[in-house]
Amino acid sequence: MSISQAIEKVETRYAHQPEFVQAVKEVALTIAPLYDAHPEYEKNKIFERLVEPDRIIAFRINWENDKGEVQVNRGWRVQFSNALGPYKGGVRFHPTVNQSVLKFLGFEQIFKNALTGLPIGGGKGGSDFDPKGKSDSEIRRFCYAFMRELHHYVSKDMDVPAGDIGVGGREVSYMFAMYKNLTHEYSGVLTGKGVGFGGSLMRTEATGYGAVYFLENMLKVQNESIEGKRVLVTGAGNVSLHAAEKVNMLGGIAITVSDSKGTLYDENGFDQEKIDWLKKQKDQSKPLADYVDKFGGEWFAGKKPWHIKGDIAIPSATQNEVDEDDAKMMVDNGIKYVVEGANMPLTAEAIDHIREHRVHYAPGKAANAGGVAVSALEMSQNSVRQYKSFEQIDTRLKNIMKDIHDSAASASDKYNQTDNGYIDYMAGSNIVGFKRVADALCAYGILN
Ligand code: GLU
Repeated sequence: MSISQAIEKVETRYAHQPEFVQAVKEVALTIAPLYDAHPEYEKNKIFERLVEPDRIIAFRINWENDKGEVQVNRGWRVQFSNALGPYKGGVRFHPTVNQSVLKFLGFEQIFKNALTGLPIGGGKGGSDFDPKGKSDSEIRRFCYAFMRELHHYVSKDMDVPAGDIGVGGREVSYMFAMYKNLTHEYSGVLTGKGVGFGGSLMRTEATGYGAVYFLENMLKVQNESIEGKRVLVTGAGNVSLHAAEKVNMLGGIAITVSDSKGTLYDENGFDQEKIDWLKKQKDQSKPLADYVDKFGGEWFAGKKPWHIKGDIAIPSATQNEVDEDDAKMMVDNGIKYVVEGANMPLTAEAIDHIREHRVHYAPGKAANAGGVAVSALEMSQNSVRQYKSFEQIDTRLKNIMKDIHDSAASASDKYNQTDNGYIDYMAGSNIVGFKRVADALCAYGILN
C-alpha cells in the first residue's frame, strides 16, 4: 500500500479524529522521498503500522471535590511505539483532551523522541479533567485517583509519563507519590519530578530554552543573530515563559505572552524582573492583565498577538492556535522565523502560507524536543542514581538541539527539499525521525 493509499485509509477510518488525521498527513506528505529511497518500508508496511498505536488504555477516574460531591472523568494512555525505547511522553489535563488529541500528540511524540537520539519511544496520556479553578486539595485528589488507575500500565522501563498542559511539578509529585505508595518502588517512572527527589536540573526550563537554542541554529545558517530581534511568544506556561526568558538572556526582545483571556504586549521587552513576576503571577493563577498596572505595556483582551510587528514568532500555547488568517498577519507584520514551542500550533493552511512566503519554519517535533530530551536525561540519572549539574545538562541540551537542527537540515538537502537556501525543516525532521523508527521496525521483523 502506497503512502497516499495509507493516508486515505486513515482519513476514512478516523474522520472523527481531525487532530490525529492532521498530524498523520503532515508526516505522510513529507516522507515520500525517503519512501522512494527505501522500498523495504513499503514492503514492511511501516507507515500503515505506525499510524496505529501499540495500544490505548482507557479508564474512568472517580474523585471527590471539596464539597464532597463525586466527580467522574475519563483518562487515557496512548502507548504508540516502543521501537526505540520505553513509551515516553507527557500527560495532559485539559477539558479538550480526547482520543484524537492524545493520538496526534502520541504520534508526533514518536518522531520527536527519535529526533533526540536518546532511547525513548512515543506515548501520551491525559484526562478531560479541567484544573482551572480547582483547589490544591482537589488537584491532589484527582492526581491520586488518576495514578491509582494508571499505575497498572506504567513503569520505569515500560512507559514513563511526564507533564504537559495542566500537569507540572505539583501534579507530577502527587502522581509519583501515589505510584510509590502503591508499588513500594522508588523509580524513575515519571519525569519532571522535583529536584531533590529524583528530578533533573533544567527539566522545567528545557522545552522553552531548547526552542530558543534551535532558533539560534536556524539564525546562524542565515548569518543572523537573535540580538535585538523582536520576538512574539504566545502562551504563559512553562514553555512560553522559559522561551521568553532565554530570548532575553541572549539579547533578543520578547514582547508578548498570552493566555486564553488575551495578549500582553510590552514593546520594551520582558527582562528578568518582569519574567519572574509573570512566573509568580501564573503560579498563583492570577491575571496576566495585572502586569500593565505594575510595568506598563498593553493588554489586548480576547486577542492573539499577530497584529503586532515582530521578527520571530514562538507560538507556545496549544494546537491549532495559529490559523491561516493569523499566518497572513504574521507575514504582513514582518515575521521571518516561526519556531513551534507548542505541539502543532499551526494549522496545515497556516504552515502552507508561511512556507509559501519563505518564512523559516521549525516544527514542534524538532523545536520543542528539548523538554523530552531532558526527561530522557532524567531517566538515565535515575537509573544510575547520580545527578548532573545545571551546566552539564545545559551543555547536553544545546548539543542535542544543534544535532536535531543539523540532521534535519542535512536530510532536507539530501532528499532535495532545500530550495535555494530555504531549508525544509518540516520534511527534514520528519524524514530523520521516521527513518530511525522505520529502520528499527524493519530490523525487528513484523513484531511491533
Ligand atoms: N509533554 C512534553 C512534550 O510534548 C514532554 C514530554 C516528556 O517529557 O516526556 O514533549
